[in-house]
Amino acid sequence: MIDETFAHFRSCGNGEHECQVYWLSHQERPLDLIEVSHPKHWASRYGLAIEDKWISHFWSDIANRKMSVRFQVHTHPEQAFHSATDDAFPLMFHAGFLSLVIPDFALGPVRFDNAYLTEIQPDGSWQQVRISERISEHE
Ligand SMILES: [Zn+2]
Repeated sequence: MIDETFAHFRSCGNGEHECQVYWLSHQERPLDLIEVSHPKHWASRYGLAIEDKWISHFWSDIANRKMSVRFQVHTHPEQAFHSATDDAFPLMFHAGFLSLVIPDFALGPVRFDNAYLTEIQPDGSWQQVRISERISEHE
């Protein structure tokens, strides 16, 4: 999962643009992340937007397969943090939805050393969480 994620970021973002993927699990085993999905998106150095058609197809596809999205993961050019836009436009607004940001367009080590993880709280706000509390890196 982690190798695949970094591979998408590097080939799609090419060190020049942001890129985003989703980490999915099966609804019966929500904690086991089993699939990486790379959306069709537009991207610049400072932002990205997912294609509407891709999103609608994605929702029906994962519903049919009883999958759910647990994380969105995206890159930033330099430091990893959650911008106001990131806060305002996550893929979904469910409590427990997680957003991971990878610094340096994912050109650094294939690890989460300087990454930033935040989670939607029951009141709808975002709260930073320790990566080791939500991800075990053998996934
Ligand atoms: Zn991409």
